[in-house]
Amino acid sequence: MIKIEFKDGVNDKEILLLTSLMSALLLKFAMEAAIRGQNITITSIRDRAQNRISKSHAEGRAVDIRSRDFTIDPKQFCDEFNETYERQFGFIDGKPVQKPCVYHDNGGGWHFHLQSLK
Ligand SMILES: [Zn+2]
Repeated sequence: MIKIEFKDGVNDKEILLLTSLMSALLLKFAMEAAIRGQNITITSIRDRAQNRISKSHAEGRAVDIRSRDFTIDPKQFCDEFNETYERQFGFIDGKPVQKPCVYHDNGGGWHFHLQSLK
């Protein structure tokens, strides 16, 4: 069963401000996680403070997801997710532009940064 939770302090109504492409990406991510027995917790949707470099959060094209709750290897999950979905969510005119899932630590701890194109 797909289960999406929100970290305390995250305004869950912001999920309505995601682009349709980002909403679809989030659903695919939640589905692939659920198949592997993982629930997901959204830790940031439009948090500008944590994402000064990228406008993707402010534009509803990115969501951060907690990775520390995963009981499977998050890096491997992210890599497999990209293999399956990068063509759908990260390509323009058949060419790779960006990875839909980035597993990184940009100062606030390791997490999944999901991002879609405009
Ligand atoms: Zn992010």
